[in-house]
Amino acid sequence: MHYQPKSDLLNHRIILVTGASDGIGREAALTYARYGAEVILMGRNPEKLQQVEQAINQLNLCPAHTVVFDLAEATPERCQQVAEQLAQQFPRLDGVLHNAGILGEIVPLAELDPQVWQQVMNINLDATFFLTQALLPLLLKSDAGSLVFTTSSVGRTGRAGWGAYAVSKFATEGMMQVLADEYKNQSLRVNCINPGGTRTKMRASAFPQEDANKLKTPADLMPLYLYLMGDDSRRKTGISFDAQPGRKPGAAE
Ligand code: NDP
Repeated sequence: MHYQPKSDLLNHRIILVTGASDGIGREAALTYARYGAEVILMGRNPEKLQQVEQAINQLNLCPAHTVVFDLAEATPERCQQVAEQLAQQFPRLDGVLHNAGILGEIVPLAELDPQVWQQVMNINLDATFFLTQALLPLLLKSDAGSLVFTTSSVGRTGRAGWGAYAVSKFATEGMMQVLADEYKNQSLRVNCINPGGTRTKMRASAFPQEDANKLKTPADLMPLYLYLMGDDSRRKTGISFDAQPGRKPGAAE
């Protein structure tokens, strides 16, 4: 995407990023902070989150905040508790990037371990829903809230072997569409981003033989991640965006 954001695009914006400890989420958190946002880092690994928090604080802009929360443990009650704690610290949320996710196993559905199915659905879908439901009141306090889910090309067209991951991303697209319609007359916009094949540990585990140097890096995707959190996308809702439009899904050539 060719998008040149203003350097103060996200000034005074409070943005929560899940899976902020690594990969695309880490890069998005750092990028939002560079553009002026107050960032809330959510993840399960305190040490990795602390490194991201330190990197943000070294920018000498808005200090970051960390919330350690393992989405595998997410229940509606725990998500409500997290939201209540956030409400004591922050007046509102202007953006939530649901980025955390797991791949599960790349095997035919007939062979997929039902426990793996449940883990993937639990983290990629159920936890994302519980957290969204709990955070909606804080998002609706913003004059221009942006809720962004993370999808995948296998969440639009099924592909053999992608099992629970693909199904969870189809459901994510559905959740985005339902919410976008429900809030179409309010200050909240709801969209999806499909990053496309990107150089991260998840991608390496899905395609271990691939030359990672041929892939885009998380930093390459950031124009779209910025666009959807800033004022320039205020009127966009219910859309599933591609961070790498035109890229053919699957392994890099
Ligand atoms: P990574 O595996 O590099 O990062 C995933 C992030 O999610 C990490 O911060 C990880 O934490 C966090 N996470 C995983 N499980 C949990 C959990 N139980 N609780 C809290 N946090 C958790 O993946 P990517 O950066 O590649 O993926 C980011 C998103 O983009 C995902 O939703 C993925 O499905 C999607 N995507 C990625 C593509 C790619 O090619 N990379 C392509 C299409 C979609 P920790 O650091 O502790 O592991």
